[in-house]
Amino acid sequence: MDDNRTALTADSLFWVPPERPSGPPQLDFPPVRNGIDYLASVVEHLDESASDVGPRDLKYAVLHLQAAVEVLLKARLQREHWSLVFKDPGRATRKDFESGDFESCGTDAAVERLRDIAGIAIDRKEAEALKDLAKDRNALQHYGLTHNAHAVEARAGRVLDFLMRFLYEQLLPLLQGPERERAWLDMVPVDAGVKNISSYVKRRLNRLRGELAGRESQTIMCPHCEQMTLFVAPHSGDCCFCGASWNSAELLAFDYLGCSDGQLALRFPCPHCDTAAFVEGINFADGTRLSDTLYCFGCSARHEARDLATCAGCSRPWPVDADANRLGPTLCPDCWHQTAPEDVA
Ligand SMILES: [Zn+2]
Ligand SMILES: [Zn+2]
Ligand SMILES: [Zn+2]
Repeated sequence: MDDNRTALTADSLFWVPPERPSGPPQLDFPPVRNGIDYLASVVEHLDESASDVGPRDLKYAVLHLQAAVEVLLKARLQREHWSLVFKDPGRATRKDFESGDFESCGTDAAVERLRDIAGIAIDRKEAEALKDLAKDRNALQHYGLTHNAHAVEARAGRVLDFLMRFLYEQLLPLLQGPERERAWLDMVPVDAGVKNISSYVKRRLNRLRGELAGRESQTIMCPHCEQMTLFVAPHSGDCCFCGASWNSAELLAFDYLGCSDGQLALRFPCPHCDTAAFVEGINFADGTRLSDTLYCFGCSARHEARDLATCAGCSRPWPVDADANRLGPTLCPDCWHQTAPEDVA
């Protein structure tokens, strides 16, 4: 990772005049790509799966996160109107804008303008997190890491959560053509990396807890990101953490059996809908460990294991009456038909 990037301020990289393609190659970054590039560096430094986050990692993560904030907020403002990135839009001229020779607005002003002019919802807590990050950045730049590293990391996680959402909701949908393709490609390592950042993950899960409230009995571990954020419905599953989704009960059951929560689970054909997605041993977010309950990813049927008998013919579980004779071999209706067709006729 090239830390020389910090020697340049976000502003100096912000505007690249299109009519000067022969400029220095290190400045050949349109704003959104440039912001994503800073984010990629943040994610690289905070990724806990690679190595522990040391003081130096945290320093560059905060410096580059602040740069990403400035570049991306202004990129969105610029889509509203180019004069809005000037410190004083009333004195903005097209000529200064195109030459990049102007004093641009600060983060606080950018947030205010995004709210008041672009109508983008940025709540008080998010605005405060952005302010705190700016303070951390200044302190780090001048004195190095003097604050509690965990607190700095947690604050960075809050801003990262905001910025990822801002990108996906406010910026990426506005891009078109090659710029759009390029940005989505550049986001691949960022998306992969943020999942390994605990300060970000914690923040994100806190926010999603509200979204999943009341649906805990239908929420299980996502086989993709292994967070308890997969909402299941008949023949489908949608993860609100990583966005993974399934529209096949069989595939979802298969993938669930491969994740850490599903390793002890067993899969059978469902006695109701026949889908091979009737699973024993699913963990639901409401705390029910369904080791003695079976759930069908196809039709959402639930059965307690004690209300089910195992067919002596095909070993699939099937529901029996509480008072039925459970002793001796039992057969499911299908096997019964096959072994004694004349009885059925
Ligand atoms: Zn997921
Ligand atoms: Zn079923
Ligand atoms: Zn059977």
